[in-house]
Amino acid sequence: MQNRPARPTWRHVAIDGPVASGKSTVARLLAIDLGATFLDTGALYRAVAYLALCARADPNDDATVLRLLAAHPPAVKAGPQPLQYSIAVDGQTLDRQLFTPSVSRAVSAVAAMPEVRHRLIGVQRAFAAERDVVMAGRDIGSVVLPNADFKFFLTASLDARVQRRLRELVQQGIDIDAAALREEIKGRDDRDAGRALSPLVKAPEALEIDTSAMSVGEVVQTLSAIVRKNSE
Ligand code: C5P
Repeated sequence: MQNRPARPTWRHVAIDGPVASGKSTVARLLAIDLGATFLDTGALYRAVAYLALCARADPNDDATVLRLLAAHPPAVKAGPQPLQYSIAVDGQTLDRQLFTPSVSRAVSAVAAMPEVRHRLIGVQRAFAAERDVVMAGRDIGSVVLPNADFKFFLTASLDARVQRRLRELVQQGIDIDAAALREEIKGRDDRDAGRALSPLVKAPEALEIDTSAMSVGEVVQTLSAIVRKNSE
């Protein structure tokens, strides 16, 4: 990795993968390394699940979820620093409240709703249209940015992913049973991969990287080297 960001000839890097494959952490660090903006698209879907939970609505109830989404659309705001962004609803920035276990349990139900996807994909594309971005999600290479200059699909074994997520949650002071977390991760992957619209899928041209035995730094370095080598 170089110290100074390269002047990229690319606009968009797509990083997709299952739950806790490391894509958001890697995408953020890669964006810093390349001097681009980072967007974790899962946070937008989480914002919709959060709206449903705050309203004590059933996250499977399409009509109620769509009503809440129309009344309180989540927005992505570029921050004062070019690399920063935040997710806001009704002008209020949402951050840690999006990553609680209850939001994680509710999110794949709202993410399977076609109208929710349609609206949020519009938000993601509008954000990408204005800047160089490293975007992390499930369908970025396949649907959101099909013309992305670089597409990566990160995977890791279920065991490695459970351990990673457990460490993150412990650091946030959230206590969760490892067996329950394993079920939650596996259930969410199955729902995300099995939904009819924009399922979790590797775009045919995406480069798949198994990160089970790699450190975050090694993954970032690998991706950075590929982008730089092919941008010069
Ligand atoms: O990435 P994260 O685990 O925070 O994403 C939360 C959920 O949002 C996923 O389980 C999935 O249901 C949904 N999602 C999606 N498409 C994306 C990003 C996330 O459906 N591009």
